[in-house]
Amino acid sequence: MEILSPLARLRASFVTLGSSLSSSRRLFGRSMASATVTRFDFLVIGGGSGGLAGARRAAELGATAAVIESHKLGGTCVNVGCVPKKVMWNTSTHAEYLHDHEDYGFEGAKAHFNWQLIKRKRDAYVSRLNQIYRNNLDKAKIESIHGYARFTDDPEPTVEVNGKKYTAPHILIATGGHPSTVSENDVPGASLGITSDGFFELESCPKRSVIVGAGYIAVEMAGILSTLGSKTSIIIRQGGVLRNFDALISSNCTKELQNHGIDLRKNSQVRSVKKTDQGLSVTLVTKDPDEKDAQEKYDTIHEVDCLLWAIGREPNTAGLNLRSIGVKLDEREQIVVDEFQNTTRAGVYAVGDVCGRALLTPVAIAAGRKLAHRLFEGKADSKISYDNIPTVVFSHPPIGTVGLTEDEAIKTWGKDNVKVYTTSFTPMYYAITTRKSQCIMKLVCAGKNEKVVGLHMQGFGCDEMLQGFAVAVNMGATKEDFDRTIAIHPTSSEELVTLR
Ligand SMILES: Cc1cc2nc3c(=O)[nH]c(=O)nc-3n(C[C@H](O)[C@H](O)[C@H](O)COP(=O)(O)OP(=O)(O)OC[C@H]3O[C@@H](n4cnc5c(N)ncnc54)[C@H](O)[C@@H]3O)c2cc1C
Repeated sequence: MEILSPLARLRASFVTLGSSLSSSRRLFGRSMASATVTRFDFLVIGGGSGGLAGARRAAELGATAAVIESHKLGGTCVNVGCVPKKVMWNTSTHAEYLHDHEDYGFEGAKAHFNWQLIKRKRDAYVSRLNQIYRNNLDKAKIESIHGYARFTDDPEPTVEVNGKKYTAPHILIATGGHPSTVSENDVPGASLGITSDGFFELESCPKRSVIVGAGYIAVEMAGILSTLGSKTSIIIRQGGVLRNFDALISSNCTKELQNHGIDLRKNSQVRSVKKTDQGLSVTLVTKDPDEKDAQEKYDTIHEVDCLLWAIGREPNTAGLNLRSIGVKLDEREQIVVDEFQNTTRAGVYAVGDVCGRALLTPVAIAAGRKLAHRLFEGKADSKISYDNIPTVVFSHPPIGTVGLTEDEAIKTWGKDNVKVYTTSFTPMYYAITTRKSQCIMKLVCAGKNEKVVGLHMQGFGCDEMLQGFAVAVNMGATKEDFDRTIAIHPTSSEELVTLR
């Protein structure tokens, strides 16, 4: 069903009429339903972070724009990503602080946790955001079209939604991605598990959880569930989590998960899942790659009420008919784009997760906006830089990282030109608590003037510490610039400007 506001409906009919009167390239579909083609300046497929940002910026610059969305406005970030995840991370940090209340003099502070209450409030917040996004589109006079978009075989790139056709000289694909799943052929019973999407539907806190995966979503979900009281195991194929992060972060985060009471199964894979009266039985196989003649060991985790696959994400390209219109996909079915977000078909662009690079909301937003400036403001060199993208993992404690890992810096600059500064300390917050957690930091510097090319940290407050330092790294700050900056005392961040 197509949902249009009265204003948008008026505008759509105007644009349809306008285009059919003025366009010398009037298009005719095969059926009566698709006989007319509604024409915009900018047609966006996907109402998530990248698509909405691109459409709104294009409208601000005077373009007539439409956004096609098959599910809920806001996309992954708002509905099943950053936003509800951060609410749950905030909830779990409360659970952590509760342990410290007595140490801080709040005696007898016992609290009962009500999952249903936070879920209700979280869902209501997400719904409010959905409505705000709808209102913002209306205010910007952007037409919102509800339905699943698919490119037709018309000579001019054209999209069909619910039997109606739409076109534009500039069409943006911002369809994002979805969680990868495991087939029943590979792991019998795999479909008894959920993905991160299903996590946000859980009506109660699972008593026993098994998370499969070693990426940031697995780490975050395991941390949230465990902190909120679920007995949690995390199953990883190799020896550590976050293996594409700096080695210090990877090893420290792996250790922190265990410090947190999470049962970490290294070098392990799920072999089968069975449903029993007591929940799921998840059978694992473990083999230590360092032991040459090691035998495979089997073990079964019983009474599991939440098996969560967090094994990666795949692009939403399958139903779009992209190859037939000349849009090239790579071997992972991600859209191939150049540095300006151009696909291999003229007039068709792609931003965000669907391109498979730096899967983060601010990256999708920035790419969408830069593209709009290029197309509708004539800024020919408007594009985003993929260097020094700051990232936070909402683990326990959180991780902040920007720039090159130590290994990447050595590859780029050579071992002799890289100098690394590290520290590890107990943040002052824990000086009077029985619960302790370390903070670790690493500065990766390169060249004679020790330019800071990488900054990596995990500890209390690192999530909020990173953004400002990312500005400095982006500006090309050197170790001397860091040293010259007067410390803020007493904080953890002062350690970054006093490293020796
Ligand atoms: C659990 C989780 C936690 C995350 N946490 C963070 C975080 O803390 N920080 C961060 O920066 N990023 C985070 N992310 C990543 C972030 O959500 C994504 O990078 C971001 O949403 C990508 O935006 P996008 O515009 O590319 O795609 P999306 O936001 O996924 O939007 C794509 C939209 O296109 C729609 N669509 C798809 N196909 C069609 C079609 N054919 N027709 C019409 N509509 C279609 C979809 O329904 C969807 O709404 C997280 C992701 C997950 C899953």
